[in-house]
Amino acid sequence: MARGKDERYPVELRAPDISRWREGNIGIPYMTTLDSGRPGPHALVNAVTHGNELCGALAIEFLAETGFRPARGQVTLGFANVAAFGKFDPEQPSASRYVDEDFNRVWDLSTLDGPRQSAELVRAREIRPLIDRIDYLLDIHSMQHATAPLMLAGMQQKGVELAQRVGEPEYIVRDQGHAAGRRMRDYGDFDDPASPKAALLVECGQHWEQASFTVARDVTLRFLACLDLLEPDYAARHLPKTTPPRPRVIEVTEAVTIETNSFSFVEPFEGQEVIAKAGTVLGHDGGREIRTPYDECILIMPSRRLVKGQTAVRLGRFVA
Ligand SMILES: [Zn+2]
Repeated sequence: MARGKDERYPVELRAPDISRWREGNIGIPYMTTLDSGRPGPHALVNAVTHGNELCGALAIEFLAETGFRPARGQVTLGFANVAAFGKFDPEQPSASRYVDEDFNRVWDLSTLDGPRQSAELVRAREIRPLIDRIDYLLDIHSMQHATAPLMLAGMQQKGVELAQRVGEPEYIVRDQGHAAGRRMRDYGDFDDPASPKAALLVECGQHWEQASFTVARDVTLRFLACLDLLEPDYAARHLPKTTPPRPRVIEVTEAVTIETNSFSFVEPFEGQEVIAKAGTVLGHDGGREIRTPYDECILIMPSRRLVKGQTAVRLGRFVA
């Protein structure tokens, strides 16, 4: 099994061949819309927003190989950062995360409409007309560390409600993203409380572990089921029969954004640690001490890429 020199985690998953989707059928490469011919919502199941994350592409392959067709409305199967994903190498599995910049930080209107160019911005602008017309988005991701899967619901209550309808994973994180730039899941109407459109970002587990595929597949099926998009006989064959634990909501209260070139954590945090006491030192950013702001503080997705301007960790607490 491949394991890059700097990697703690073996690559258990394969990167699927997505060339069959290259043409797509809506004028955007790697975006394929399945149309039931009946009225209903338009949902996008999206993979490889980050090119080093395999589980979403495998979930879409699963839908294709099991003959999934929407029962009503339309379902688009999409692959976002295909340029990065095309460079995936199991010997260097982190290297293909993006080409020029993080695809999931370019979704501010000022950035999309602005003059800046990058491989990721070209692709974001290419798929933006589709993102503008869908009603629901499931954006499938995975994480650096093998911690419990998370649903990232954004700031609006409708995101939390959609996550609760999906019902898995157990942990729903209500969060406002990153100072470095807006995520696709927070773009446009998804972040407008007056719009019924809603988006979810799911973090399915460690990037290359087998279990992340199982989570991605099951969450995708539950997402389609809760929107009433599965045919009954397809659901009977493939939808998980188990009832997952009642979801718990974690509200992110702040993101720790790195301000210097010398940020370090005091421990090798992996995520979802609950720190009992307020004032506990988590790390140092130059001369600045990073401390927990309250008791029972939960660490959300501490980063291993401790780069100035990026998020080091987000801090939250259980609210439900
Ligand atoms: Zn990701």
